[in-house]
Amino acid sequence: MKKIAICPGSFDPVTLGHVDIITRAAKMFDKVIVAVLVNPSKKPSFSINERIELLKEATADIERIEIVSFNGLLASYAKEKNAVAVVKGLRVVSDFEYEFQMALTNKKLNPELETIFLTTSARYMYLSSSMVKQVASFGGDISDFVPDCLYDKIYNRLKGDV
Ligand code: ADP
Repeated sequence: MKKIAICPGSFDPVTLGHVDIITRAAKMFDKVIVAVLVNPSKKPSFSINERIELLKEATADIERIEIVSFNGLLASYAKEKNAVAVVKGLRVVSDFEYEFQMALTNKKLNPELETIFLTTSARYMYLSSSMVKQVASFGGDISDFVPDCLYDKIYNRLKGDV
C-alpha cells in the first residue's frame, strides 16, 4: 500500500522553510498532500488560490505531491485520503506546545494517524510567513526567505502592506 503523508499549513505565503519540509517529506513517503488551510477567522494576505499557485510554482520539481485546499478536521481528512502521517516542521521551542496538543488531539480522533516532526534546517530556524510579511512590508530584502521564482510576486504584493 502506498504511504501517504499530509503537510498542513497556512502557507501565507510559502517560504523556503516550507519547501524544505515538503521536500524532505517527499523523500520519506510515496505521496505528499500539501493541505492549505482555509481559515475563515484569519484574514490572509494571499487568497487560497494564490497560496496554492505559489506553492505549485515553489514545488514544481518535487515529484509525487498534490496541493489542495483544506477545510475541516485534519484527522478526518487524513482518513478519507488514506494518509498514514501528518508531517510538520518544528522550529523553536515555542512551536512545541501547540504542536504537541494538536498531535495528541489528532491521535485521539484518528488513532491510525501518526504525527511526525521534522527538525527545521538550521538556516530556516527563525523563518515564518509572518516574518516574510513583516520584512517585505517595510521594503526589506526577502531573497533568503522565499523561492527565487516567487520573489517578485510575493514582494510586490506585500510591500507597503503595513
Ligand atoms: P507559518 O505561518 O508559521 O510559517 P504554516 O502554518 O504555514 O507556518 O506552516 C506549515 C508547516 O510548515 C508547519 O508544520 C510549520 O511548522 C512548518 N514550517 C513553517 N516554517 C518552517 C521553517 N522555517 N522550518 C521548519 N518548518 C517550518
